[in-house]
Amino acid sequence: MEAMDTDDLTALITGANRGIGLEAARRLAHAGLNVVLTARDPDAGEAAAGELGVRFERLDVSDDDSVRDCARRLERDRVTVDVLVNNAGVLQSGRILDMNDELMRHTLEVNLLGPLRTARAFLPGMLDRGYGRVVNVSSGSGSLTEASAYSPAYSISKAALNMLTRQLAFAAEGHGDVKVNAMCPGWVRTDMGGQSAPRSPEEGADTLVWLATLPADGPTNGFFRDRRPAAW
Ligand code: NAP
Repeated sequence: MEAMDTDDLTALITGANRGIGLEAARRLAHAGLNVVLTARDPDAGEAAAGELGVRFERLDVSDDDSVRDCARRLERDRVTVDVLVNNAGVLQSGRILDMNDELMRHTLEVNLLGPLRTARAFLPGMLDRGYGRVVNVSSGSGSLTEASAYSPAYSISKAALNMLTRQLAFAAEGHGDVKVNAMCPGWVRTDMGGQSAPRSPEEGADTLVWLATLPADGPTNGFFRDRRPAAW
């Protein structure tokens, strides 16, 4: 299974101003893809995109209009998104019986509805063209078989993201070479992961980049960690 020819492919990455998303943008640009680096904060996003020499677009995944406006601007400029990396995420702590609805709602808004919104915006084009890669950046915390009491809202949102991955993969069946997968980056040194995490952002982005550039005979409808199937 060789990585595919990436010439002329465009990858859009959410939450790419820092952490794993920024590293994914760097790696995908290095692999020869056209990268659209998106972020909700225009200053942070412009700075990150400027550093990598790639296009920046403002995109707040929790805001329907923001996602639609971004898709419209790209369509106007005839930019087709071939690779969608749903990386933006939030982690807020709170115990299951104590957390307020707002914490749960915001977590689902970003970690679950965000990827659903971007999929609605960009997956239909992939289905029409018969080519696409969607990578949902999930977490081992969302695994039902490996569940723990860790960050309940986050874990619930990532379990739901895993099921969203499967539903999107089912929707892509019969539309040519469109693959939808979820992955866990491991515990990574970012603002979210903290400085004690054992993995660098480069290590955390490895499986993501692999899934984003899968060849035609690569997997779909899966959940991966370290390029290997992980327990749902
Ligand atoms: P991070 O450094 O905290 O970065 C999170 C990114 O998401 C930031 O760019 C942030 O933008 C963005 N974001 C948050 N809300 C957003 C919104 N409404 N719209 C658009 N962007 C938004 O975290 P990370 O470690 O790189 O995490 C990236 C992904 O990996 C997440 O999905 C996370 O759940 C997953 N993950 C991380 C670890 C880990 O150990 N680090 C482990 C498992 C899974 P702002 O700068 O504007 O806040």
